[in-house]
Amino acid sequence: NAIIEMTDVRKTYATGALEVAALRGVSLRIAQGEYVAVAGPSGSGKSTLMHIIGCLDVPTSGEYVLAGGDVTTLPEAHLADIRNRRIGFVFQQFNLLPSLSACRNVELPLAYAGVTPSERRRRAVEALTRVGLADRLAHRPGELSGGQQQRVAVARALVTDPALILADEPTGNLDSAASADVLALFDELHAVGRTIVLITHEVDVARRAQRSVLIRDGRLAA
Ligand code: ADP
Ligand code: ADP
Repeated sequence: NAIIEMTDVRKTYATGALEVAALRGVSLRIAQGEYVAVAGPSGSGKSTLMHIIGCLDVPTSGEYVLAGGDVTTLPEAHLADIRNRRIGFVFQQFNLLPSLSACRNVELPLAYAGVTPSERRRRAVEALTRVGLADRLAHRPGELSGGQQQRVAVARALVTDPALILADEPTGNLDSAASADVLALFDELHAVGRTIVLITHEVDVARRAQRSVLIRDGRLAA
């Protein structure tokens, strides 16, 4: 069964009188439990595709079905709800709140979902334990290494038990040891059945996935 079913998705940006076709008919099917890398050079359409997969933006045309629901033309309020409940995001810049402890950062998506404080705490500790940071619960992002911060972000992505983990250049700000750490963590998550989509321009990173698709000029290549 498919988590992602994208059919002939096109995305056009209008900048003044000029139109830029960022995606020119992308069809992509990702099954539950797959670990797929989307690779491609700068300007090929990766960010645009990631925004659509992550329900941060909608296609100009085509169809997108996520976890069995058609999300092609939903209004923003509904998309925000789907982002929060269905997708765990991991970004290049970590996007952690600097004033909050690791534990509180991981609790945040659960707070938005209305989970009680004690249950939030329990699940955040569980997620941080899973990423190897049980001994860093009270540390703020600034007190952690880059690799540790990214692992906190992975814990935050996991804590809602999402259908999909969507990682956008997750190793882009990490040195090679920390990158290896985070990629090993994705391997573990894949091994226990998580669905992961990893967007990257780094060939070596894409190679770590179970399958990689190449995007070039807004189209997927074999
Ligand atoms: P990548 O992430 O692979 O670098 P993008 O999806 O950011 O590729 O960009 C694909 C194409 O769409 C590029 O030609 C880019 O200039 C254009 N583009 C991206 N975002 C916008 C935007 N908001 N407005 C206009 N053009 C855009
Ligand atoms: P960029 O691709 O420009 O480096 P990011 O990858 O950090 O930017 O983020 C991509 C987009 O996702 C941005 O428009 C950002 O505002 C948005 N975003 C970042 N974090 C979240 C989140 N947790 N939920 C929803 N949208 C987010």
